[in-house]
Amino acid sequence: MIEHDARVLVTITGAVQGVGFRPFVYRLARDLGLRGWVNNSPRGVMIDIEAPDTQIRQFLSRVQVEKPPHAIIQSLDWQTLPPAGYTRFEIRESETDGVKTALVLPDLGTCPECLRELFDPANRRYRYPFTNCTHCGPRFTIIEALPYDRPATTMKHFPMCPDCQAEYENPLDRRFHAQPNACPTCGPQLALWDNAGKVLAERDDALLKTAEALRQGQIVAVKGVGGFHLMVDARDEAAVRRLRQRKNREDKPFALLLPSLEAAKEACDVSPLEAELLTSPEAPIVLLKRRGGDICEAVAPGNPYLGVMLPSNPLHHLLMHELGFAVVATSGNRSGEPICIDEREALERLRGIADLFLIHNRPIARHADDSIVRVMAGRPQIVRRARGYAPLPVLLEQDAPTVIAAGAHLKNAAAVAAGRQVFISQHIGDMDTPEAFDAYRRVIADFQDLYSLKPERVVHDLHPDYRSTQYARGLQLPATGVQHHYAHALSCMAEHHLHAPALAVTWDGTGLGTDGTIWGGEWLLVNERSFERVAHFAPFRLPGGEQAVREPRRSALGLLYAVYGDAAFEMRDLPPVAAFSEAELKVLRAMLEKGVNAPVTTSAGRLFDAVAALLGLGQRSTFEGQAAMALEFAATGAETDECYPWRITTITGEDAPSERMIEVGQMTEAIVEAMRCAVPTSEIAAQFHNTLVAMILAVAQAAGEKQVVLSGGCFQNRLLLERTVAALRGNGFHPYWHEQVPTNDGGIALGQVMAAVREHQPCV
Ligand code: ZN
Ligand code: ZN
Ligand code: FE
Repeated sequence: MIEHDARVLVTITGAVQGVGFRPFVYRLARDLGLRGWVNNSPRGVMIDIEAPDTQIRQFLSRVQVEKPPHAIIQSLDWQTLPPAGYTRFEIRESETDGVKTALVLPDLGTCPECLRELFDPANRRYRYPFTNCTHCGPRFTIIEALPYDRPATTMKHFPMCPDCQAEYENPLDRRFHAQPNACPTCGPQLALWDNAGKVLAERDDALLKTAEALRQGQIVAVKGVGGFHLMVDARDEAAVRRLRQRKNREDKPFALLLPSLEAAKEACDVSPLEAELLTSPEAPIVLLKRRGGDICEAVAPGNPYLGVMLPSNPLHHLLMHELGFAVVATSGNRSGEPICIDEREALERLRGIADLFLIHNRPIARHADDSIVRVMAGRPQIVRRARGYAPLPVLLEQDAPTVIAAGAHLKNAAAVAAGRQVFISQHIGDMDTPEAFDAYRRVIADFQDLYSLKPERVVHDLHPDYRSTQYARGLQLPATGVQHHYAHALSCMAEHHLHAPALAVTWDGTGLGTDGTIWGGEWLLVNERSFERVAHFAPFRLPGGEQAVREPRRSALGLLYAVYGDAAFEMRDLPPVAAFSEAELKVLRAMLEKGVNAPVTTSAGRLFDAVAALLGLGQRSTFEGQAAMALEFAATGAETDECYPWRITTITGEDAPSERMIEVGQMTEAIVEAMRCAVPTSEIAAQFHNTLVAMILAVAQAAGEKQVVLSGGCFQNRLLLERTVAALRGNGFHPYWHEQVPTNDGGIALGQVMAAVREHQPCV
């Protein structure tokens, strides 16, 4: 029986460009004897095929099963068309008009085949630091417009040589339409500059001289894929200290670039999941438990963890192969500013920090810091979302209006949503400097341009002083404020496609509440439309307000004052009280007694600070979360199930629903008592964590909601998260926490988008 030919037009959307999708379709179509064509369009990949029905059906199923490794199919639709009488299968020119929905891919770590070529003396790309193919190489950081084609990337400055061109045009080559395709003849090249921009060496010689300088303890600014790193020998205490001093960075841990997985295993404990993350194409910094080895203390002072990444681009592979030892690879920026991407700008901004500059002439279209991941409760949690992950969208369950979400202030990332996709920007950073704010505006404009989006409205934090809020209100768009902790809760719910109702435990350092006070230790019951604040910590005062963030001793004094009143100022045996001079105590006392410049807070982050200061773990912080980290580290390994006493009081308002207040007075007294009895710090720290877990569980039981969402910066604390998850599960609850999106304020934008979705939902 003769089967008649059918013809279908297939549209595939998702991350299907720049991953070798068309050559894959081409080979599959030829395999099955189909006729027609495939091309890239702004929406995705279009395939027009003509063949007997069975072949078409085979094609449609195999396309989804056998797709290239980095492709992500979000939708596959087809329509039947009248026969066209095609005679062969071909790859056609890209279309550039129409709705832009094809996803921009993140940068991908060097693939095994490219790596082999890199170290093969017989290969024409031997030791060439810009080797790539359709399975690997830069994407997001070189794209200037969609669809993803070479003229719309920063590679347009490098016309291909005949050899590269031939690979590029051959559908059977793994470099077929690899947009960044390049070789030593036609592609970008390295140069080594001194700190005045004078060329000291070029090409491979530049790389060799860089390695030599690093061996001698010099600080080198290295231009990578998504921006500059500052590198220095991680074994050299004096050199690392010099970098700290020049970068004005006292204790915040530096990330490390290690030569290999074996080297990582020597320096740290590496679980199979952590090994998988380290060697993945996303190649994030993974926080690993330190073991020993030759990495000096100044890399991460007092920290039992190290942030480790492995080479993920040919330049880093070559450099680390040459060195064979760990280097610090920290973002190439001045404290508080975004990462540098341009060599001239780097020379200006990093001159006082770096001795030398290893640069190249491939422009970086946009910055992408290294991502940071920590394995928590057996799953990876993205702490900083940038290279390798951004700009892949988070997919919502339902359509969002086209909105800009401005995010918050610290560790900020903005988002632009359209349809079911939420494009969360790469990590931008704290919004304190003009440079950071510029980067922020660029990033938002960039997403709108890439996808030709016309936002209808903007959502922002309630805090009127945040630059992000001011930016949002300055746009000529309808603007809505979303409460900070509600946004945290919705962010986590969106990630897990969770439906209301859910109890959200949102604990962080600071966020403006609906009552105008600083919240941060909240239990919110998220309902269909909005939320109720069902419980919170009993508020205490922060003498000096914002200054308390940098000085945990202030939180401690505020807490002691709430518990002991005036007697707190006499407790000189306690480290935070002893850390103030008589004169300072007098001023602070006036602030607390009169309630002037001493705002109240329910912040769990400040409670962590207070307890850390009480235990003498640090009276001042030089970076956010430092004291809380010290408390977590102090508690790790202590074997105790004990809790301190504490109490819930219920406040019933006039017409408001009852609110529970978690009183920490008894706990504070017990901690002070334990200190005075010389109970080991580790035991007190562990018991404090246990008490917090018990509080979370008790409110969950009182609220009676099975779904419990954990969000906010405090849940970067592994001990707190893991013990909470275990306690909730053990008592029949279903806990959810962040994995794809940061639990810190880097995840706020996603929650803001969700708030807009909820407001927008038609009543059915
Ligand atoms: Zn490759
Ligand atoms: Zn070439
Ligand atoms: Fe927050």
